[in-house]
Amino acid sequence: MVAFPTVQDLASAETDQVMALWKGLGYYSRARNLHNAARIIVGEHAGVMPKNAEEWSALPGVGPYTAAAISSICYGEAVPVVDGNVQRVMSRLFDIEHAVDRKAGKQAVDEACQMLLDVADPGTSNQAWMELGALICAPKSPLCAQCPLMDGCLARERKTMLQRPVKQPKKAALAVEVSFSIALRQEPNSPLQWWVERRPEKGIWSQLEAFPCVMTPLSSEKEAAVNTGLFAERDANDARFGPVKHILTHRRMTAYFEVVQNPPTPKMPGRWVDVSSGDANWPRLIDKVLPELRAWIVKN
Ligand code: SF4
Repeated sequence: MVAFPTVQDLASAETDQVMALWKGLGYYSRARNLHNAARIIVGEHAGVMPKNAEEWSALPGVGPYTAAAISSICYGEAVPVVDGNVQRVMSRLFDIEHAVDRKAGKQAVDEACQMLLDVADPGTSNQAWMELGALICAPKSPLCAQCPLMDGCLARERKTMLQRPVKQPKKAALAVEVSFSIALRQEPNSPLQWWVERRPEKGIWSQLEAFPCVMTPLSSEKEAAVNTGLFAERDANDARFGPVKHILTHRRMTAYFEVVQNPPTPKMPGRWVDVSSGDANWPRLIDKVLPELRAWIVKN
């Protein structure tokens, strides 16, 4: 908010500037989407914010929840907001047996929300449902005795509160080995530099900067055999820096860094950065071991 106080300020910022400010917060797609949405609002809507959920949903990164929250609370549009709290309340109130993250369960929750929305004051109504879920209909210990819906709640009557909402089992994160290739350059009278390229627009670490890398699936046996520490110095038989363990939502990463003689043919635009003093929009995996990695490069 300090860097970009208006939507016009954000729209005219450079991508690198936005990504640098977001650094360390994770979920980098949010920064990209926010930036792109600002550009669309300024470029296509003359800087005027959308006024209803349909128009908000057309912006990148704005899903049904955000669109409904903004348009009902700010503009009084009669659209229900369905967050995790509301899902839980509705699935208990109507004792919905379908998984709420599948089509049938989602539809049942949406219909319940639509039916119970106070169209005279949708913003307050939506906030009341969310708050009831957050404060009373808690996930592990719902305070049914204090709940204004106690008499009509099917899950309470059937004692299924703790089995609602039903959710489909989560997919396990995939174990991968990440091999970073570090190309170095030493020009006369200049500091040692390494080659850093911009990550593709889609996928892991998109639009951040990293050494070129290859990701391959890692067997559970090999993963279990890897040192569980944050990182280990290279040993006599291994010319790599690592392993560096890192966990993203859908990936369990074991990363290694290796110096290569010739820079790989660049697949993405990149630049030479001073090893000891230069900065880049690193992903957290690299950022957290940067001092050790720099020292390892200089030593070797
Ligand atoms: S009665 Fe209990 S389970 Fe039902 S909505 Fe209220 S707090 Fe949730």
